[in-house]
Amino acid sequence: MFEALAQKIEKLTLELVNIQSVVGSPDENKVSEKVYEKFSQMPYFIKHPENLRYVFTKDDPLQRKSVVAVLKGKKNNSKKTLVAIGHTDTVGISDYGTIAEYATKPLELAEKLRELSLSPDALKDLNSGEYLFGRGVFDMKCGTSTLMSILEALSEKPEDFEGNLIMAAVCDEEGGSKGMLAVVEELIELQASEGFEYMAVLDTDYSAPRYEGDNTRYIYVGTVGKLMPSFYVIGAEAHAGDPFKGVDSNHVSSAIMEEMNFNTEYCDAAEGEVTVPPISLRQQDLKPEYSVQTNRASYLYFNFSTHSSTPDKVLELMNKGAQKAFQKVIDSLNEEYKKYCDSNKFPYEKLPWVARVMSYEELYEKVKAERGAELDKAMKELSARLMQDENLDERIFALKMVEELHNMWSDKNPVVISYYSPPYYPHIYVKNENPLEKKLLSTLENVLKNTESKYDIAIKKFYPYISDLSYAAAPREANAIDSLKNNMPGWGERYNLPIEAMQKLNLPVLNIGPFGKDAHKYTERLERDYSFNVAPRLVYATVLGLLS
Ligand SMILES: [Zn+2]
Repeated sequence: MFEALAQKIEKLTLELVNIQSVVGSPDENKVSEKVYEKFSQMPYFIKHPENLRYVFTKDDPLQRKSVVAVLKGKKNNSKKTLVAIGHTDTVGISDYGTIAEYATKPLELAEKLRELSLSPDALKDLNSGEYLFGRGVFDMKCGTSTLMSILEALSEKPEDFEGNLIMAAVCDEEGGSKGMLAVVEELIELQASEGFEYMAVLDTDYSAPRYEGDNTRYIYVGTVGKLMPSFYVIGAEAHAGDPFKGVDSNHVSSAIMEEMNFNTEYCDAAEGEVTVPPISLRQQDLKPEYSVQTNRASYLYFNFSTHSSTPDKVLELMNKGAQKAFQKVIDSLNEEYKKYCDSNKFPYEKLPWVARVMSYEELYEKVKAERGAELDKAMKELSARLMQDENLDERIFALKMVEELHNMWSDKNPVVISYYSPPYYPHIYVKNENPLEKKLLSTLENVLKNTESKYDIAIKKFYPYISDLSYAAAPREANAIDSLKNNMPGWGERYNLPIEAMQKLNLPVLNIGPFGKDAHKYTERLERDYSFNVAPRLVYATVLGLLS
């Protein structure tokens, strides 16, 4: 059976890869339609068309859609249900340069790649013939094809299948996860209408070596979280010929950058697994024109990975770091000013600047005390105006809101306002505490014990690449989510998460993916043997195990 399954998965992978589906483009729907067509041709769904549907994304100018297929087993009338997800979008193809037109044609691409410079490892893998190259092969059309093919195999004999398997082929995973977010709400509806008892959410996204020469195949029982701590920096403008009369916002912004970027002191940890440090994704000043005036306003934000810290804790940490950085700038300004005064024989007087950092929520309270209801009204109006531009980046939306709030404050002294930009991905990991977690871990142990292969397969806690699995649950501590809501301008307007549905789902998650290398690079490649012959067997056994 598994040999035929492997062939089927390989064929379907190529077929799905051939349909270009770059995230954020109308092409995403083409691959969704192909997936829908494939399901609709299976005898089970011909007989049960009501179990196959599109789920449309919300607030999406592109009107993208995901596909949800429900296989209901007849054995023992079980309500146990496993949710499996696979994304159908890919990142862009411009990294392939002159051979971009072959990016989604793996069979031709292999030869074309020889025209480009390749790393020794990529060249070795290309020459070995053991790898399949192409955009989306590895991330993650192979995984999606695996789930589709397994569901098809199981659907041939529903009377022998115990439990239910829901497969969601989701769009926009490489972007804002709008596909998964709509599916989460669909799952809650299905739970109510069908009485499904969800066991876990299974993803089959890629798994790659974690360090040079790493040959282990990983299964993950959890996923890393992501926050985007952001800072709006207000300095004091001055003439560049008289700079000590001001505070350059770029100076403060750079100090925050220096304090946090790639600083492992800010890594988050749990169960002996440590995240990557904060990584800056933007740093920019906000001066609209050239002039000999120092910068008054700047902003920057970071990708902040989490394993255990909730948004309230991360904000606290960020405020401390920014305060330290700001103070450093003021100390250094005083030092340099003293030297400058001494060398010019001017009298030195300590500069008036005070380092201060406050959160968006704190600033809102201060301005509200001054302006009352007028503030809420002004912020609502701005939000409504910004909402008219449906292509406005969510991060710019948040920035504009912070700017407006700060503008309405009577205090014009230098300050750093900390806030969150979208998106937010909660971390999840399986702790072996509740019955669902116990079931998941014992199932995996059994699966690994009973699956023979030549590979070294290990279980790790955190899927490290950010995934839609994050939305299978949300923190339940009141403070955690409130801190996020109150410090993310535009929350509930420009950026929405179905927090209640996520909290209600509250499921353990796992990822069993194909093996390969260089996702999001033009050397993206999938190792055939493990990906087509071994990973699908692990997935298949896990599905049956979790539902038994
Ligand atoms: Zn992916």
